[in-house]
Amino acid sequence: MTWECVIGLEVHVQLGTNTKMFCAAANSYGEPPNTLVDPYTLGLPGALPVPNAEAVRLGTRAALALGCTVHPVSIFARKHYFYPDLPKGYQISQFEEPLATKGAVTIESPERGRISIGVTRLHLEEDAGKSLHDRLPGRTAVDLNRAGVPLAEIVSEPDMRSAAEARAYLTLLRQLLVYAGVSECSMEKGTLRVDANVSVRKAGDPNFGTKTEVKNLNSFANVERAIEVERERQIAILEQGGRIHQETRLFNANTGATKALRSKEESHDYRYFPDPDLPPLVLDPLWIDEQRATLPELPEAKRARFASEHGLPAYHAATLTLEQPVAEFFEQTVKAGAEPKAAADWVLETVLTVYNESGTFPVTPGRLAALVGLVKDGTVSKQAAKQVYAELVTTTEAPRAIADRLGLVQVSDTGALGKWVDEVLAAHPSEVARFKGGEVKLIGFLVGQVMKKSGGKADPKAVQPVLQEKLR
Ligand code: ADP
Ligand code: MG
Repeated sequence: MTWECVIGLEVHVQLGTNTKMFCAAANSYGEPPNTLVDPYTLGLPGALPVPNAEAVRLGTRAALALGCTVHPVSIFARKHYFYPDLPKGYQISQFEEPLATKGAVTIESPERGRISIGVTRLHLEEDAGKSLHDRLPGRTAVDLNRAGVPLAEIVSEPDMRSAAEARAYLTLLRQLLVYAGVSECSMEKGTLRVDANVSVRKAGDPNFGTKTEVKNLNSFANVERAIEVERERQIAILEQGGRIHQETRLFNANTGATKALRSKEESHDYRYFPDPDLPPLVLDPLWIDEQRATLPELPEAKRARFASEHGLPAYHAATLTLEQPVAEFFEQTVKAGAEPKAAADWVLETVLTVYNESGTFPVTPGRLAALVGLVKDGTVSKQAAKQVYAELVTTTEAPRAIADRLGLVQVSDTGALGKWVDEVLAAHPSEVARFKGGEVKLIGFLVGQVMKKSGGKADPKAVQPVLQEKLR
């Protein structure tokens, strides 16, 4: 029997505002516990919510980047549940009328090629605090710094069919949200959090099976692992004639297993109703248009443009546009005069390594462009240019000056080359004889010897004609 896995993801993203969703307490990470609190965060009687315009703006831009329709009117609603890290006893969220609905993104599925994943909705809400179970022996501590931080919750359609597709969706989602400037999207810091809804059905069955929701996923790799184990667990149960219970399960990264946490709550359990302290959120359609118009160029468009405008292979265009700062650096280098293909090679082979480690660009686009120019006009070899690059990182000297100082400027002058060539020919009489006897491939060996003799300074393109001439 073949089974098909069905996956829908719920993603919470903290919006990168200065202050919280409904009050002026700071939205910041890594501060001492309970220092970012005010009467509203604590749920003190009489403290009223005031929506954060910047959070609304970022949520709107996130929705537009995901191709959603942003609604001119949406409603904040109270979602009730009791937990120590939720002082008010309810969370302000959006329920029946969310900020945005009906988006879609296109991913590359390893199994199905390019497919569209529907984005059901994006709504705004406030985060809960954090319960810390490992601070005090036998007790739970509560940190309310996170309570009230603005979140966008992004719910996907159950459109994914494998763990790899879920990963591709998450990777793209994060890329879009970072591009749109709405969140840093770090799973490590908890600014991006994922719950995976998983079910299985017999291949060809038009109906979905009962799903479980898996929580506690702290990396993309664990999202994949959790989906795989949940899929296997459900299939095993069904094949033994059992049935799946709709429930919330926790993934344990150490054991790689999921375990039941609670049976699934229904929305009526939360007793949602419109928050009487907040009027409907009304957005001017012209303002929404303006947000759409001022979105940066998004990855897919940038990728296509890099391929067509700069003539780059698709794979290079994709890698260069993974992160906006890298794409920007590449284009600045081209603007400064570097040939695009060579600039792309430099960024991919050299610049990216440092950027991935440190998030910085130690050499300016202008200086890299100058170096690329030196290789192009044959002043230095590509190999020697790597040595020059290393110096560019630590000095302010011009690339040409560094090449001179290090004695890396290539010799293409026939006189100087001729001397080395003569010496090499004299030192290898048998190779010369064999070459003359028809083993023309030996030219490569001889060029290599000349390069060696020159200490790498000979311009290999200029060596060959001189050799040919002398061997004639
Ligand atoms: P609930 O009412 O249980 O919250 P929703 O319909 O709101 O369920 O969907 C929540 C998430 O679960 C969405 O991401 C959705 O795509 C996903 N989902 C819904 N049904 C299934 C299913 N049968 N299998 C896998 N995922 C599903
Ligand atoms: Mg739901």
